[in-house]
Amino acid sequence: MKSICNLISLNHCRAKDPITSLGIGSILSTLKCHSIEHNSRSYNVASKNFTIDSVVQDILETSNKRNADIWFGAFIWNEAYIQEIIHKLKNVHHFLGRVGIAGPQVSHVLERNALECYYEDADMFIRGYAESALLELYQGKANVQGLHLSGTKDFVESANCRPHLLPSPYLDGTLPLTPFIRWETRRGCSFKCSFCQHRGADMKSKTYKFDYDRIAKEIRYFKESKIVKDIAVLDPTFNINTAWSCNILELFKGFNGKISLQIRPEILNSKFLRKALELMDSGTNLVLELGVQTLHPESFQVINRYGDALPINKAIGNVKSKVKELQKYNISHDISLIFGLPHQTLESFKQDVEWCEANTSASIDAFPLILLRGTPLFYEKKKLQLIEKANIQHPLLENIQEFIKHVCSSPTMTFEDWYAMADIAYGLLQKKKKKKKVQDSLLNPFETRVEHLKVLH
Ligand code: SF4
Repeated sequence: MKSICNLISLNHCRAKDPITSLGIGSILSTLKCHSIEHNSRSYNVASKNFTIDSVVQDILETSNKRNADIWFGAFIWNEAYIQEIIHKLKNVHHFLGRVGIAGPQVSHVLERNALECYYEDADMFIRGYAESALLELYQGKANVQGLHLSGTKDFVESANCRPHLLPSPYLDGTLPLTPFIRWETRRGCSFKCSFCQHRGADMKSKTYKFDYDRIAKEIRYFKESKIVKDIAVLDPTFNINTAWSCNILELFKGFNGKISLQIRPEILNSKFLRKALELMDSGTNLVLELGVQTLHPESFQVINRYGDALPINKAIGNVKSKVKELQKYNISHDISLIFGLPHQTLESFKQDVEWCEANTSASIDAFPLILLRGTPLFYEKKKLQLIEKANIQHPLLENIQEFIKHVCSSPTMTFEDWYAMADIAYGLLQKKKKKKKVQDSLLNPFETRVEHLKVLH
């Protein structure tokens, strides 16, 4: 009997997020394109109405059959829910089908047969981007790369990553256009920041491009639709390849909405900045999101912010000079910092915030450090004497699941220091909200930047 693929997606949606994520949309689109029978259901774990029992009940009512496979994407924010759902399905309701797990919580576990310890009731796992592996599994292929069946020999392989072959979930109607969308042009990241579970599901520190024609068609579709007003581009480092990123920015010219791009500031160059300014002059509200994380030399080093390519002070100097350059050209940017990092002190965190506030008009986000499964910092927790704590009461963490642990003490940081840092981060968040309100109330936020363009030429 042929197995049927059922995707259960537990998302943490912000107010403007569509309920079906881009990741699920891409898998659905792939299965649809190859006529693979499938079902999917998405839930918002941030909703007050979300309950584990309703998910379990839905699965039992729709898919409690021997040939039903239930797949979950495991992330830090839904891990505890998934564990409980699987437990109830298997041990309380004696679910007849198989349970599979993919997502970053699985992809980054590189010890042989360790996945069975994390998820003892699961039957199958996929490491890496799931589209190809699911497709091959339901096409009946043997030895699917990246698929691991519980209790069998674990080859610790990642699934093939072939975004250039994937159909677009927007162009084929799988994901309807909405005012806010997430979108991608490239997967993976060639940097190796030691706290990051985002750098690429296959852990190869490589990047993989989507098909350029698909991208061009999608951009045309977004522009012509007049529905899309806000695009968050998920590429971890959009400016990793100047020629590629400039070509994409060129295609967006005339887009009358906002585009947010995640950028590595130290590799920004004049060609990219010029293209960014041209795009802004065409009427697009471009926002560069800069992952600065820290400017403190020891913390900078321990998170492997720049690898060994440069002396630390020179690397930090590069970050600072690029941030100042964006300020000079009046290119909108947001800065993200992390607090709770190894070697960080309350004083050094304050200095980072003060430097950013003194040198740019950027909105600053400061996020508490979380040790994500499978990252280098996760494994170095003992050596670095990092202490984690869940269920912390602080307004900054209001919208975060209580079960998520944060690093709140280290040899250079007491819990009181952590709390003081969280207060600073909360203050920054309030400032950002206020600034956004003012920006939203402005009639014409798109300034002409011809003068700046002249400077760059
Ligand atoms: S933090 Fe950003 S640049 Fe660093 S590895 Fe992760 S995705 Fe790459």
